[in-house]
Amino acid sequence: MMWYRERSPRRTPTPGAAVLTALSFPLLAALAACANSDAVPAEATEPLSGTEAVAAPVQPAEAATPSVRAARGPALDLPPNELGEIMVLEYHRLGEPEGEFYRSREHFAQDLQNLYDAGFRPITMRQMLAGDINLPAGTTPVVFTFDDSSTGQFYLRGDGSVDPNTMVGMWTAFSQANPEWENGGTWCVLPAADHPSNFFGELPSREVDRTTREDRIRRKVDYLISNGHEICNHTLYHARLDKARDQAQVQEWIGRGEDSIRVYLPEDYEIVTLALPLGMWPATKSLAWSGTYKGHSYEYQGILEVSGGPNVSPFDRSFNGHSVNRVIVAPGALPRALTRYEKEPGKRFISDGDPRTIAVPDSLSSRVAKDRWPNLQLKTGS
Ligand SMILES: [Zn+2]
Repeated sequence: MMWYRERSPRRTPTPGAAVLTALSFPLLAALAACANSDAVPAEATEPLSGTEAVAAPVQPAEAATPSVRAARGPALDLPPNELGEIMVLEYHRLGEPEGEFYRSREHFAQDLQNLYDAGFRPITMRQMLAGDINLPAGTTPVVFTFDDSSTGQFYLRGDGSVDPNTMVGMWTAFSQANPEWENGGTWCVLPAADHPSNFFGELPSREVDRTTREDRIRRKVDYLISNGHEICNHTLYHARLDKARDQAQVQEWIGRGEDSIRVYLPEDYEIVTLALPLGMWPATKSLAWSGTYKGHSYEYQGILEVSGGPNVSPFDRSFNGHSVNRVIVAPGALPRALTRYEKEPGKRFISDGDPRTIAVPDSLSSRVAKDRWPNLQLKTGS
């Protein structure tokens, strides 16, 4: 795309450099990237790969004096079960009318509150893949994923402040009001999709000079990563990977997407998660998690599907980072899930408050993938 360039050293953001008028939400209705259904018939270029390697876990960052954490906010008074389910929630646009791809502001705020009240705490995909679940005892991890980088998700106002009516704005306000709501979400961005899905609604470069535009994107990316959020690749512009004409095109859509995002990231930042546009796999599945474009390789530990329900724990033998199921936050979906967990709390991942251990009931100990987690201590008998 026009402003694509090769990876370059990161520049220091200049706060307050640009002034943009906030866009109104109805504008969003014009574009539904995820809901796109284009009519071009699928053309398989490669037979489906029969070998689906299980993702290797990301090594956790060096543990900073881990200790057992007691919850200060809402938590369950139940024994730990770190083999329980983890919901990976999938959000798209903010707005109304609600549907699979739209969540109202009111309901998004309510989702945060309801999950918190029910003892859930956010972690990123990166943390889940690394088994780095550093949550208080009695709480359950939940991953928030946000696809398509649209304006309603994150916008900087003219004075450079975060628009409080965006998802990032609401998240920030919620975590300030509830300090136990730590960590962040996973933002699967489209660097070159049509406005307003290009890096949270940045204006096309023909409407604003390129330096200003890139500076604003950089400040948003900086804001996310310095506040515990994760940046995830959602390909260059949301093309269906199953419709690529060949393997090179798959790698271009993913690799060029990665390179275009990396321009805004610190040099040492690794993108570890990719969300498949519309959940469609390339004919050669492994190209979704590993490939090369123009001499740059990409490698993902986590590949996000678009549906499938709650995911198994990363400590479970059956966990496959290369196929992570998600729960689309469609109308009614989250209340239903929470009601189910109320009735069957044993299905939930329940933390023991100690990130050094995998704490499970005796009856489940044979399901623990001990070989994948040599640094974590298995603790049974709960
Ligand atoms: Zn999408």
